[in-house]
Amino acid sequence: MASGLDDPPADRTTGRWRVTRREALVALGGAALASSTGPSTTAMVADRGPDEPVRIRVYPGDVPFQARLRYGLSDLRRDWPTPLRDALAAIEDAFEQVLAYARERSRLESLEVRVERGAPIRFPPSTTPLSTDAVLPSLEALLERFRERLRRRDALTGRACHVLLDWSPLNYRVGYGGTLAPNSITGSSAADGDSGDAQTVANVGATEVWDSRAVTRNMAIHETMHTFLPHEIVDAIGAAYCDHELGTAVRTAEDTLEISPIATAYAGHDRIGGGTRFPGTGCCDRDRFSRHDGTDGIENWTYTTELSEATCEAVTRFLERRFED
Ligand SMILES: [Zn+2]
Repeated sequence: MASGLDDPPADRTTGRWRVTRREALVALGGAALASSTGPSTTAMVADRGPDEPVRIRVYPGDVPFQARLRYGLSDLRRDWPTPLRDALAAIEDAFEQVLAYARERSRLESLEVRVERGAPIRFPPSTTPLSTDAVLPSLEALLERFRERLRRRDALTGRACHVLLDWSPLNYRVGYGGTLAPNSITGSSAADGDSGDAQTVANVGATEVWDSRAVTRNMAIHETMHTFLPHEIVDAIGAAYCDHELGTAVRTAEDTLEISPIATAYAGHDRIGGGTRFPGTGCCDRDRFSRHDGTDGIENWTYTTELSEATCEAVTRFLERRFED
C-alpha cells in the first residue's frame, strides 16, 4: 500500500466481492423490479443550530416484492420489513450504549443524540438504463444519488448522519456497504459546500441473503459508527490504525468466537467462510484489535451487538469534540 501508516484509510467499505455473470443477470432482474416503484414524496424539514440534537437518520431503501414476501404478509405494504426494522433498532441500541457509557463517566450530559426514521428512499429510474451504474451502482454512485435525494429534501443539517438501508444482495460493487470521503464523518466541515452531514450505506440485503440477521444488525451498526470515528481519535485509542481494530473477537467456547459490531467482517480469515460470507479486506491487523483471541480451531462465529469499550470511548470522545460547547 502506498500510503503511510499515518494516513487515514481512504476507503472504508466492507466486503466487496466478485459474482458470476449469472448472478449479475439475476441482480439485473431485481434492479428492474426495484425501479418500478414510485418515488417518495415525503419531505424532511431540516433543523439547524448548535443546540439541535445530533441526528442519526435511518432510511429504508427499496425492498423488492419477493424479498418482502419472505418476511410475511404483514410486511408487504410497509416500508420497514423486519430486517430493516431490526437494523434500525440495532443502531438505536448502539447509541444508547454509547450514551450510557458516557454518562456513567459524567460525560456528554447535555448532548442529545437522536436516532430517527427517515422517509423511504426511492431512486428514480436512470436516464441511461443500460449503463453499469444504473444496474449495479458502485458505492460511490449510490452515495451520490442518496446525497442528491437528501439535498432535495433539504435534509442536510450539518449535524446528522444519514444511513441508507439498501437492499442489493448481489451488488458486489457495494458489498456490505460503507462510507466515502468527503462525507464520511458526521459534522465535518462542508467539503462540497452544502453541509457537514455524513452518509453511509448498510447493504441489509447482502447481510440477510448471504449471512444472518445477527450480521445484519452488526453491519448496520458498523457502517453507521464509521461516521463517528475520525482517524485521529481511532489512532489515539490503543494506536489502532483502522476503525475495525477498535472491535473485539472473544472466544466464548473452544470453537466459538464472538464478534462485536465494528469488528464484524474483519475478525476472520481473509477468505470466504471466515466469519461473514465475504470478509472485509484491507487495513486491519488482528494484533492491533482491542481484543482478538485468535481463530485457531474456531468453527462457530457469533455476533454481539454490544460495542467494545474502545468503540464507546472513541465515539464519546468524538461527540465531545465535535458537538459539545
Ligand atoms: Zn468497516
